[in-house]
Amino acid sequence: MEEKTRNNLIKGFTQVIPEANILKDEKLSKRTTFKTGGPASLFVIADDEEALKTVLLACDEMKVKHFLIGNGSNLLAKDEGFDGVIIKLGSGFSKLSVVDEINEGTGLITAGAGVMLTQLSLYALKKGFTGLEFAHGIPGTVGGAVFMNAGAYGGEMKMITESVTLLSPEGDIVTYDNEAMEFGYRTSSIKNKGYVVLETALSLEKGDSEQIIATMNELALKRKEKQPLEYPSAGSTFKRPEGYFAGKLIEDAGLRGYQVGGARVSDKHCGFVVNMGDATSTDVYRLICDVREKVLKESGVTLEPEVIMLGDF
Ligand SMILES: Cc1cc2nc3c(=O)[nH]c(=O)nc-3n(C[C@H](O)[C@H](O)[C@H](O)COP(=O)(O)OP(=O)(O)OC[C@H]3O[C@@H](n4cnc5c(N)ncnc54)[C@H](O)[C@@H]3O)c2cc1C
Repeated sequence: MEEKTRNNLIKGFTQVIPEANILKDEKLSKRTTFKTGGPASLFVIADDEEALKTVLLACDEMKVKHFLIGNGSNLLAKDEGFDGVIIKLGSGFSKLSVVDEINEGTGLITAGAGVMLTQLSLYALKKGFTGLEFAHGIPGTVGGAVFMNAGAYGGEMKMITESVTLLSPEGDIVTYDNEAMEFGYRTSSIKNKGYVVLETALSLEKGDSEQIIATMNELALKRKEKQPLEYPSAGSTFKRPEGYFAGKLIEDAGLRGYQVGGARVSDKHCGFVVNMGDATSTDVYRLICDVREKVLKESGVTLEPEVIMLGDF
């Protein structure tokens, strides 16, 4: 991005955004759980709707690319960085509340898109609601989870989402109910359409606190035992192909521990690509390509990445 364009953008942003929330050349390795990726020309934290709309409008008018980041836990960002504006939702998108008790035994929790899933599930526990135990160990935000229809251990966002408040690409606030979200396996109707999740209403049932804690602990233990949580990653690298498990196909292709540069197929769980410490995004990407090629050759199955590429690889 030309320096003049960047300065003009900053000038516009500072009308509604504190300077401390506008970062130049912010390394995406600091903002993604893979801990890889080069600098973003601008990284802006939007604390409220007005700030968000200002940034989106300015990017539109000046024909500058933008990307909404959650916790960066499902992203592979290019080593060359992002020539545009990365937007992160800030403090105004961190609200949690219990709307009301709908019927005896059920209730609605609203959660801002910037809330972390772990925080949300602990809030539900505190308020005595069951249904969010599956989300406790997923290191993403509510916005990212709705967008992806995140799920684990038999639960997914689809099962509990009552409605989603969105900012449309035209700048309107719209509400989608569960049906309009068209949740599918790691996908929703808003994927690649430029909608921003602002808030979500979740329908939950009253539950037994001790049972909720026991389930959370059980799932946390399973994750610790099965997943390479000691290394940076983006979780499962590939989607589960119908009728197969990605990890098993990769293992059967002889790729356990296969390494490109600092990126490695986890020895603990072949479905995870991990950063051994000094991996670049290019290493990860090359590894993904190699794995896909080898698995296709060995089993005839095409693996699709679950990880979202930030930039053109
Ligand atoms: C150790 C580990 C374990 C994991 N386990 C699981 C698991 O069990 N199940 C699972 O489903 N995933 C898992 N993941 C992957 C990841 O945590 C989820 O996909 C999560 O939902 C991504 O949320 P995020 O906020 O980090 O989004 P990001 O990675 O920042 O973004 C993902 C996508 O969501 C979009 N997005 C983010 N916020 C918004 C918003 N407010 N409005 C519109 N679009 C938005 C982004 O533009 C991007 O396209 C795991 C990851 C790790 C590192």
